[in-house]
Amino acid sequence: KTKKQKTAKKDVTRRSHGEARALSPQTGAALFDDARSRLEEVFEALDVHPDARSRLMQPALSLQVSVPVRMDDGRLQTFPAWRVQYDVSLGPAKGGVRFHPDVNQHEVTTLSFWMAVKCAVVGLPFGGGKGGVQVNAKQLSSLERERLARGYVRAIADVMGPDRDIPAPDMNTDAEVMGWMVDEYEHIVRARAPAAITGKPLSLGGSQGRVEATGHGALTVLDLWTEQEKRKPEETTVAVQGFGNAAYHFARQAAERGYKVVAVSDSSGGIYKKAGLDIDAARKAKQKHGALSKCRQGDNISGAELLSLEVDVLALAAMENQITDANVDDVKAGILLEIANGPVTSDADTALEKRGIDVLPDVLANTGGVIVSYFEWLQNRAGQAWSEEEVDRRLNETLEREARRVLSRARDEKITYRRAAYRQGVERISEAIMARGNCQ
Ligand code: GLU
Repeated sequence: KTKKQKTAKKDVTRRSHGEARALSPQTGAALFDDARSRLEEVFEALDVHPDARSRLMQPALSLQVSVPVRMDDGRLQTFPAWRVQYDVSLGPAKGGVRFHPDVNQHEVTTLSFWMAVKCAVVGLPFGGGKGGVQVNAKQLSSLERERLARGYVRAIADVMGPDRDIPAPDMNTDAEVMGWMVDEYEHIVRARAPAAITGKPLSLGGSQGRVEATGHGALTVLDLWTEQEKRKPEETTVAVQGFGNAAYHFARQAAERGYKVVAVSDSSGGIYKKAGLDIDAARKAKQKHGALSKCRQGDNISGAELLSLEVDVLALAAMENQITDANVDDVKAGILLEIANGPVTSDADTALEKRGIDVLPDVLANTGGVIVSYFEWLQNRAGQAWSEEEVDRRLNETLEREARRVLSRARDEKITYRRAAYRQGVERISEAIMARGNCQ
């Protein structure tokens, strides 16, 4: 390699470390507009009061900060970051913090809006919030990630707290990161405050079952649907897009329950096996080689091929905007299960509806994580630690109650599952907005 090539490579690394990039405002803004279009549809259907409509069309609080981090090589890098509280009528804002190079204000706003809807859909006493740092976390050392997590908390500490806004894990953040965050917050307030963050390590007040919760919840919703359709798991094939925390735990538990999980993928590509995959072996291979495509099990397929497989269930567990106008016609699955937030655009949604392909929507199917976050918050406030059985029992109870309500509303009102879920959520939020009076 010439010296010039080496320098060029270094520059790329430096940029993707998260220096502010010129983002096309269109990309992010379109995501939020798309999300809000679903809201307007619900306003019409439910005849929501104009006061509540006007409150729900924009976020209640939106904070942009810079997080300076001293890198291991001595340089200082400054990462753009956000915390958005979309609506707090039902309770303190709740939602994860994402570390990703594509994070931007519109994305965080949209994700906080989805949090508000999903907390309401499953009846939690929380509003919606979300945070994000524009960074390629995979290129950071462990100490750099810790400094970033602590810096982020210092930057948003004024607007967080157990009764204000409670962060949690999301893409590329996990229990370890939550441990650093809660420790930083406790230093700032000079008191123990475990309920300020959820998804923590067990030793700092984390809850049993939180790591598996999103996958577990998605499986519960899928089980209710299979039961309604009088299908047997053994006769139901499933393809899973994604192999992160939610995707892995969903795939593993689904396979244990008897579903035939025939395909999984990550950003490197996917693997397919007609007789069903060994999910734990795939996980081990991914940990060893860093990429699923290097896993010697079944056949290698591309990410696009996975989305067009003829399966009964296509579980989308990667990220937003995966099924769009461009590839919706390739979908051959019987039903879509949204484990990620916003994986299907509203145009694609309309196309699926026309073709009679049902969607079990994100605001119901991925609520397992935030439900167990709520249980963690409850345990912290009461100074308790529940057993895994207790957490699972309560998770199933909450989700079954609320999901059955959504499924039967869809049937009674002859609407999609997504419309039924949005109606359930928006009804509850607007009621709280109106109950707070007329001249706030
Ligand atoms: N990040 C997760 C979500 O999108 C969990 C949020 C939480 O536990 O607060 O639902």
